[in-house]
Amino acid sequence: MSDPKRGKLVVISGPSGTGKTSICEGLLKTIPNARWSVSVTTRKRRGAEVDGVDYRFLDRAEYDRMVQANELLEHAEYLGHGYGTPRTPVDVALSRGETVIMEIDVQGGAQIASEMQDSVRIFVMPPSMPALKQRLAHRKTETPEAMEQRLAEAQREMEFAAESGCYTHFVTNEDLSAAIAEVIRIVKQESRL
Ligand code: 5GP
Repeated sequence: MSDPKRGKLVVISGPSGTGKTSICEGLLKTIPNARWSVSVTTRKRRGAEVDGVDYRFLDRAEYDRMVQANELLEHAEYLGHGYGTPRTPVDVALSRGETVIMEIDVQGGAQIASEMQDSVRIFVMPPSMPALKQRLAHRKTETPEAMEQRLAEAQREMEFAAESGCYTHFVTNEDLSAAIAEVIRIVKQESRL
């Protein structure tokens, strides 16, 4: 039986440009005791991102060391960069009864699905591929090549999420506030908050 005082782990996945980050922000504002899991990555800092807040930006040697030392709860390569979730902060927060929110890719979602079965794993879908393309173009943080890569990756991620059975819930982001409300409802229901 799961410990009723233990917190819930909430995984949010979905292609970039589907509003995952805004959904996570909505959860952090609304769910009592919610805590953001700060991932490590080898990719370069983008735009207004803050080291230690949005991600911990590491060089490849330090990232590889963390992987080898089993310091990451899950980790994956995404478009040539390493991404991973430090294990200790998640363990500490869950044992304090906090709700841990993590935004990770589908490879990480699959690892969490097999290792932490009582987690809530939500996959956020764009309403359509043209809508996703438009949102990524609007964001203007990517070069055209990087955008094409991300769109191809989005297609693969959606297929994997649908076929793998790793996700407990699917939410289509047609309207951002409705999608945020839906994810909040799911997390509250699953955590009995
Ligand atoms: P971005 O470079 O756009 O911030 O993130 C690229 C992808 O990596 C996104 O799908 C994001 O959810 C995922 N990601 C971010 N942090 C982690 C992590 O710690 N683990 C895994 N597996 N994926 C992550």
